[in-house]
Amino acid sequence: MTVAIVKSSYTNVRSGLERAIDLVGYKPKKETIVLKPNAGFPDGSLKLGDCVPPEFLEALAGIFRDKQVIIAEGVAAGMDFQKMIRNFGYDRIPKKYPNARLVDLEKEERIPIKWKRGEIKLPKLLFENEYINVAKMKTHYFTHVSLCMKNQKGALQEFDKQKFHMKDLQADIFELSQVLKPNLNIIDGIVAMDGNGPYSLWHFGGRARKLGLLFCGQDIHEVDNVAVQVMKLDRKKTHVPDVPTKIVGEKLSDVSVAFKPPNFGDQLNFGHFHLQALSGCSGCMQTFLMSTKLSTDWHYAYDTLRGTVNFLHHGILRPFYIFFGPRCSFPAGADPKKAKMVCFGDCTRGLAKKNGLPHIPGCPPPAAEMRKMNLSHRKLQSLIPK
Ligand code: SF4
Repeated sequence: MTVAIVKSSYTNVRSGLERAIDLVGYKPKKETIVLKPNAGFPDGSLKLGDCVPPEFLEALAGIFRDKQVIIAEGVAAGMDFQKMIRNFGYDRIPKKYPNARLVDLEKEERIPIKWKRGEIKLPKLLFENEYINVAKMKTHYFTHVSLCMKNQKGALQEFDKQKFHMKDLQADIFELSQVLKPNLNIIDGIVAMDGNGPYSLWHFGGRARKLGLLFCGQDIHEVDNVAVQVMKLDRKKTHVPDVPTKIVGEKLSDVSVAFKPPNFGDQLNFGHFHLQALSGCSGCMQTFLMSTKLSTDWHYAYDTLRGTVNFLHHGILRPFYIFFGPRCSFPAGADPKKAKMVCFGDCTRGLAKKNGLPHIPGCPPPAAEMRKMNLSHRKLQSLIPK
């Protein structure tokens, strides 16, 4: 098949998308089109390029104005769909385009589908209608890249989203793409993201890369394959297969830009702050970052005196270990008597028990409840059952 690479900005995104769709010869056969955007984290940043902006979806609603358009997303485990649509401005889309409506995939009817691991329940509407996968072009701390194949993880029910992280995330993302096949795949690379990807801690996190590119094609593997080549990343670290692909539009060599790969490793260390998140779900990662005052303090560390004091306290003066994810282990050389250590989420129950560490239960621990507490390091400690 064919993958189109087209130059575009958000201002002229409609004409860019029209050209890309035209170049790959896509014509929807069904009356209803389901757009599945990458917008799983309500606190994501449109500016940094970690989620699809509303103008992108509006352009598609306009292009398919003679069809019914469903914008369907399932937010990450523990997150709030309503908050996501408000924060990203998706709620304005049906007002401007009466042919469009918003759907929470978590609440949708599911059908059992046979796949390599047995059976998986996927949203019926993705099979009944024309399904267009609308991904972002970005790196990711757990999966190296987040493109069309990774975007499909948002279609899973919450239970499966968590289960994917417990086995082999990369392999499961690939296997999902063998049974859930979009009719069209689009990647928004107008403002892409590199580095550690979405929602990492402050400057350890992703940064915006203004590429001004769109990718479009009918084969999910081919589209991701082209994007990985443009990003100049090591395919072996991704779930993206090497498939022969015909490229139309821009030349690969003219638009390729080396993306900074994620460098999260087994543990993120800064001063005496250590975050071990081996195979943890993004839901747990985000819940933690959002729910602790720590993340906010780090973001504003240089702007406020209070933040600076907190930053020094948490990051430099006192060792502070946070663990989450199913494959965490006790760090060699760490002394639990001299450091603060917290096991976060149900996955770390065993680690906590084995090493006598404090544990915050939940899968993920409830963000809303924890956030209400406006946790500081001290409050976080006081919350932990003795
Ligand atoms: S506790 Fe956290 S990392 Fe573990 S399965 Fe639940 S959400 Fe994922």
